[in-house]
Amino acid sequence: MGIETIYAFTSYGNDSIALIQHLHETRKGAKVYTVYSDTGWAAPEWIARVERAEELARSYSFEPVRIPSEGFVPLAIRKKGFPRNGMQFCTTELKVLPAQRWLDSVDPDREGTCAVGVRREESRARALWPEWTEDSDKHGGRPLWAPLVRVTTEQRDAMIRRAGLEPLPHRSRECSPCINSNRADLRELSDERVEQIATLEAQMGWTSEGKPRTLFRPYRHQGAVGIREVVRWAHSERGAYDPDTSGCDSGFCGG
Ligand code: SF4
Repeated sequence: MGIETIYAFTSYGNDSIALIQHLHETRKGAKVYTVYSDTGWAAPEWIARVERAEELARSYSFEPVRIPSEGFVPLAIRKKGFPRNGMQFCTTELKVLPAQRWLDSVDPDREGTCAVGVRREESRARALWPEWTEDSDKHGGRPLWAPLVRVTTEQRDAMIRRAGLEPLPHRSRECSPCINSNRADLRELSDERVEQIATLEAQMGWTSEGKPRTLFRPYRHQGAVGIREVVRWAHSERGAYDPDTSGCDSGFCGG
């Protein structure tokens, strides 16, 4: 297979590093770009990881690229609400569209091949991910290659170590938190980040139905409203979370 140019889409989490290592070991001679989407919502410490991964890419003669975007916070303000499952406009607006524009600028004739580090073992949703997609809509009709689809976690970790890094005990923090964060991800948010998000939630105001605009939906978090409560839910034992419904304690209300 004569692939000459590969655009490897990376978040610089574990699978991305394994993808870089795989391309280094198997695609000698190809021109490889490692492409990172800057969502403006990464954990502050993630930038050091990005720099380390870019250094690795350069050591393999790959070319790292960061694609800027509008940013998660300006996007939420413009859309008057936070993205969420089912309305996941953050992926489209912060990653897919900027990446398509960039691809069209560097590869107007669509000759390159895009690559991602998706593995079928990751989740049920990815269990049937194809190794090849002939025309990927999200990549402007270019072929999309997922060379790691059959790679196990153990094999992936070995690839990361061959790259001279240690596997991370958590997912990529390119967005922190991701709107699809699970309990474990939420438990790792720093107090400072929680307070930043609480301030943002307050700025976002209320919906037309009179509900506060929160980053995470209360019904998926046992009624927890707002990031502080969601984090309290994440730290509680399963089923033991007691939402704060005490309301106003001024003595003037209820009773
Ligand atoms: S990583 Fe999560 S928050 Fe970031 S763009 Fe993707 S879905 Fe949205």
